[in-house]
Amino acid sequence: MGTMDRIKHIGVFTSGGDAPGMNAAIRAVVRTAHFYGLQVSGILEGYNGLVQNNIRPLGTRDVSNIIQRGGTILRSARSKEFMTVEGRCAAKRTMDLHGIDALIAIGGDGTFRGAQAFMVEHGVRMVGITGTIDNDMGGTDTTIGFDTATNTAMELVDRIRDTASSHDRLFFVEVMGRSSGAIAMYCGIAAGAEFVMVPERKQGIEELISALERTEKSKSSVIVIVAEGDEEGGAYEVARKVKERYAHYETRVSVLGHVQRGGNPTVADRMLASRSGVAAVEALLAGQAGVMVGQVNGRMVLTSFSEVLSGTSPRNHAELDRILAILST
Ligand code: ATP
Repeated sequence: MGTMDRIKHIGVFTSGGDAPGMNAAIRAVVRTAHFYGLQVSGILEGYNGLVQNNIRPLGTRDVSNIIQRGGTILRSARSKEFMTVEGRCAAKRTMDLHGIDALIAIGGDGTFRGAQAFMVEHGVRMVGITGTIDNDMGGTDTTIGFDTATNTAMELVDRIRDTASSHDRLFFVEVMGRSSGAIAMYCGIAAGAEFVMVPERKQGIEELISALERTEKSKSSVIVIVAEGDEEGGAYEVARKVKERYAHYETRVSVLGHVQRGGNPTVADRMLASRSGVAAVEALLAGQAGVMVGQVNGRMVLTSFSEVLSGTSPRNHAELDRILAILST
């Protein structure tokens, strides 16, 4: 592996679902690398760019005017080929062809699982940066994209509240989160929702119905936030189950969908991305590899991929559940 060899050329890519703030992270990596005299290559479409040799040089001016933009200029992808031994061999050949010594991967837990396989098989030096709206990773308090996605969802729920309270309606709003209820929980509390359904907690339809019975008499509008991966089904399914029991409820369903991924990143996401990019390059220069850059209690910290991946257990929303119950009365 030659960890003692000085790094001269790093590759950077974005992988998995895109998240607002990924561009700010790319910018920070590129500028920091050049600051330390390193060469930088942008790998396009996640691991696919490595497998298929889709790579271009990135200078400091190539990342001008992108800090404020959602999405990712390097594009993102899910790569089937990289899941195979042959695909990873092809990826290593591409790195050797370009003389790339180390990689910075911006993505979610799947991306780091791939990074770990690549490191074990080929001794590649890799550092990870969190890029996922789901906020479901160990080794960090929050992930790049989560704050922006949650702000977008909250603003949309604010608008739904206007119409809901004009008509005495019960709204079911579905937000993103296949296995993570973080967006639902934060957006629910911040927008003053009455009830939140998340995949981490099996609250069931009964609990929802008794909560609705308590609030229905006193409130003109009720908003239930449903994470898309809730075990009761999405918002349509939850609404159908409620309607089955209470035909008199005037219900409406709104699925927010991909609008939650887009838009200009918030200050919090730009800050996290900027700090993560600098920390990732500096970690590589300090001889670190196999680690993810995260933010814990306001500080940038490094956590090994294996610890991050084993820590990807469901978040405990107990405190948030408790305050939601108090604040929605
Ligand atoms: P998000 O949380 O936004 O979905 P993610 O990084 O978890 O982001 P995934 O699609 O799970 O997104 O993973 C991204 C890519 O990482 C996969 O398409 C695949 O190429 C690679 N990858 C994931 N798991 C492995 C693995 N076990 N071995 C090799 N490569 C992997």
